[in-house]
Amino acid sequence: MKKLETQVAVIAAGPSGLAAAVQAAEDGAKVMVFEKSNVVGGAANMGMGPLGIGTRQQQQQMVDISVEKAFKMFMDYTHWRVDANLVRKYFGNSADTIAWLEDMGLEFAGAYKYFPKSEATWHIVAVNGGIGRNGGAIMNKTLMERAKELGVEFFMETPAKKILKDKDGKICGLIAVDKSGEEIEVSAKAVVVACGGAGDNPEMIKQRTGYTWREDLFSFAIPGLKGDGINMAAEVGAATTEMSMEMMYILPNSDFGPDCIPATFMQPNLLVNNFGKRFMNEEEMQNTTFTGNAIAIQRGKIAYSIIDTSILKGYKRNGLDVTNFVHHPENIDDFEQVVEDSIANNNPDVVKADTLEELAEKLGINVDTFVETVEEYNEMCESYDEVFFKDRRFMKPIKKGPFYAGTFRPGAYGTLGGIKINENAEVLDNEWKPVPGLYAAGTDTCTIYGDSYMFLLPGNTMGYCLNTGRFAGEGAAAYAQD
Ligand SMILES: Cc1cc2nc3c(=O)[nH]c(=O)nc-3n(C[C@H](O)[C@H](O)[C@H](O)COP(=O)(O)OP(=O)(O)OC[C@H]3O[C@@H](n4cnc5c(N)ncnc54)[C@H](O)[C@@H]3O)c2cc1C
Repeated sequence: MKKLETQVAVIAAGPSGLAAAVQAAEDGAKVMVFEKSNVVGGAANMGMGPLGIGTRQQQQQMVDISVEKAFKMFMDYTHWRVDANLVRKYFGNSADTIAWLEDMGLEFAGAYKYFPKSEATWHIVAVNGGIGRNGGAIMNKTLMERAKELGVEFFMETPAKKILKDKDGKICGLIAVDKSGEEIEVSAKAVVVACGGAGDNPEMIKQRTGYTWREDLFSFAIPGLKGDGINMAAEVGAATTEMSMEMMYILPNSDFGPDCIPATFMQPNLLVNNFGKRFMNEEEMQNTTFTGNAIAIQRGKIAYSIIDTSILKGYKRNGLDVTNFVHHPENIDDFEQVVEDSIANNNPDVVKADTLEELAEKLGINVDTFVETVEEYNEMCESYDEVFFKDRRFMKPIKKGPFYAGTFRPGAYGTLGGIKINENAEVLDNEWKPVPGLYAAGTDTCTIYGDSYMFLLPGNTMGYCLNTGRFAGEGAAAYAQD
């Protein structure tokens, strides 16, 4: 068995592990990172940017958000059923973390909302000087380069498989396996766990959250996110926490296709469940957490967004009612063609019919209830949505065929929670005492949203990951050098 020695061993190189490694190295520790994949960045390579509160960008853009306002908003949202000290510390450090990233050379396009009712806390990483998808990958690369500059050693395709504890109950290293299959025993004073949860582990998702993957949950399954960190930490005495999914909603087979499909169906259109009934104020569809939750409690966990030809024409002529940076087609002129292609490819997400009755039949929902719902909705379009109080701007009658339906299902970015930590990212045991030398960060530990991801302050998970990563790195470096 190969042997290595370090002061701080970081398990995984997603944003939380990378932030921990950089912070620990800046604080003077010798650091090694063990990563399962052949690239750094984990799920964040698909993301656009982290939360920051009270940043330079917000000051320049005259964004009215402070740590106090965000904290109060957050604690109201979560009913104080989460660790207030951790939330306070995370928010309080978030502006410094944005500046810390800038000092490494990372550029942000600015601070943005995800949707109008949210706050402009989302610091989108600049892609070619502007806004593009996947700026998270640039952030991760910047962190890795900074880590290397500080002397951090990276062991890629070298997953950790066990954390080691000595006879006094102190963490003393880990066992990893290199790409040739050889085991490496790493002696370390402190270990940071940051393995990104269990988004790629359907059994653990089922067991810990109740969802059946690709049956009633169509989540991102970033390869390698198997819950290793949660299991390894539990083996050395970490208390486990509840786990939940970071909810959103999705057209499972079209979300990565041409943007005109998801963008058109994610408008505040008429949305019905499989009884053919409305179940929410569709204005809230911009909040993907709320909509994912609402769909997840319908029969069959399914919903249909309905438009007619007049609505489609209006969207083509005047643009979509709501846009975001994720799905933002320049126009939707080829909508009909993309629908035809999807139907020809047996894509169940999209249905087209000449009459409302035919649409209901094709969707397998009760024809009479659906037709009644549409009639009632059309009447309210002329007056007022007395059922769910949707803004009049979005009340558009469904009258002229052909009609189109998009099929939404619950989705998720990944799992949240698993390992209990305190506000210093120290891992706690069942007596709520720190396991000496063990730290954890990122989604493996993230229970601060309570039952539902807090999307009103966007950039929240990456923000949480980077900041708890820094807390873990700081704590681990101090402990290891003490
Ligand atoms: C499509 C998409 C878009 C997103 N956009 C945003 C956004 O714009 N803003 C935002 O705030 N959040 C966003 N998120 C969420 C955010 O990216 C994640 O919450 C964040 O990346 C989690 O960070 P992490 O470090 O905890 O884990 P991850 O980023 O998932 O990284 C975990 C790492 O652990 C490694 N690993 C696993 N097991 C082992 C092991 N045994 N040994 C060694 N390594 C191991 C994995 O290979 C991986 O590299 C998005 C997520 C997705 C899927």
